[in-house]
Amino acid sequence: MRVCIVGAGVVGLTGAYFLAREGHDVTVLESGEDVALGASFANGAQLSYSYVAPLADPSVLPHLPAWLLSSDSALRYVPRPDARQWRWCLAFLRACRAATSNRTALELLQLGALSREALYDLVERESIRFDHVQNGKLVVYRDAHAFGLARKKTELLARGGASQSALDRDGCLAVEPSLEFASATIVGGIHTPSEEAGDCLRFCRELTNVLRDRYGVRIHTGARVLGWARQGRRVVAAQIAGDDVRADAFVLSAGTDSANLAEKLGLRLPVYPLTGYSLSAAVIPDRAPGINVTDLHRKIVYARLGEQLRVAGMVEITGADESRRDARLATLIRHVKEVFPFAADYASAQTWCGHRPATPDSKPLVGATPYSNFWLNTGHGALGFTLACGTARLLVEALHGRRTAVDGGAYALSRL
Ligand SMILES: Cc1cc2nc3c(=O)[nH]c(=O)nc-3n(C[C@H](O)[C@H](O)[C@H](O)COP(=O)(O)OP(=O)(O)OC[C@H]3O[C@@H](n4cnc5c(N)ncnc54)[C@H](O)[C@@H]3O)c2cc1C
Repeated sequence: MRVCIVGAGVVGLTGAYFLAREGHDVTVLESGEDVALGASFANGAQLSYSYVAPLADPSVLPHLPAWLLSSDSALRYVPRPDARQWRWCLAFLRACRAATSNRTALELLQLGALSREALYDLVERESIRFDHVQNGKLVVYRDAHAFGLARKKTELLARGGASQSALDRDGCLAVEPSLEFASATIVGGIHTPSEEAGDCLRFCRELTNVLRDRYGVRIHTGARVLGWARQGRRVVAAQIAGDDVRADAFVLSAGTDSANLAEKLGLRLPVYPLTGYSLSAAVIPDRAPGINVTDLHRKIVYARLGEQLRVAGMVEITGADESRRDARLATLIRHVKEVFPFAADYASAQTWCGHRPATPDSKPLVGATPYSNFWLNTGHGALGFTLACGTARLLVEALHGRRTAVDGGAYALSRL
């Protein structure tokens, strides 16, 4: 079958890989000048298979006033005259119900396990190198109430197979001594020894070479999809400037642009950009964390990628607005220096702003649409690197009408 995928971020590329492995004739259309220049470019590098807590959770509700009022808050919400933003926020609030959030966490845990297995399969078969390490993850808490809720969540996730332990402050410092400068503010942490990290951009670039050289996948960069040609409930071509790209099936993996492209077919996708920031700086050996660290209160993650320290964080519900980029990066660097003052050469750090393609319930959208040959694989939010290989598997199973390894209904468009 000829399959056309729109978008060459980590989600589009992994989808292309698992489809090509099934023998399909795959074309990828990418508007950027190269692959993975969108959200997949310099993300937090976490392969967070067990720590899958959705953003929509009852614990966020008491913090809503701070999101609205404080420009320094890790989470910021600026209301816009934009119906999409309001609809997204209302659905987000509905997803904050404890029962929904708990169910989502268990579903994402299953998808995470599938994703880990699929990533290992891909990496071993194709010998891809991307600074991949299994060095564990420590999520540290500054607030006793939030830590208490997190402990409860570990009990829930343990029922789903996750192996995590709750540590007090001394336990956290024993696992990661370089947290010494923040020790006074830490009340405890959740340690997951099995978690991993890797460089998403490098992964995408290496995978692109594999796709082109070993599987004959055509990846066209500078090819922006502008619309669709359709016949009834079938899409017959993706329209790019001056050309129609015809295929038997189409997969939408266009990150935050997915909603606009779907709208051209009359489909409403609740995918909204959640803006975040990162910096990459030369690591100072012996002073930087050896484990992946999440500072939950500030929504900042730390990972070592070879000779670099990658720091990423903040969540802004402000549309794809980058006007406060400098101010937010300055806040990020200030927070980072408070926790790991000597871990990296921050003065020469490379900074980045990216937009997570997020659904209100933190679950990706994978599977069929009302168009018989138009498929979704998008909306991975804060966990796109982690979940990409799993959703690629799910997509292949759905496209072939096979029984899916995890409950496909949990990721269907109809749930939202
Ligand atoms: C600050 C930050 C930190 C993060 N940290 C982590 C982390 O630690 N772990 C994790 O798992 N995830 C993390 N994420 C999330 C993860 O990066 C994303 O979920 C993931 O990159 C989404 O991949 P994607 O392929 O869907 O989107 P993208 O990477 O954005 O790719 C979409 C592609 O579609 C292309 N496109 C758009 N419109 C069109 C069009 N009309 N025609 C053709 N092409 C088009 C774009 O150019 C782009 O290349 C983070 C994200 C951010 C912003």
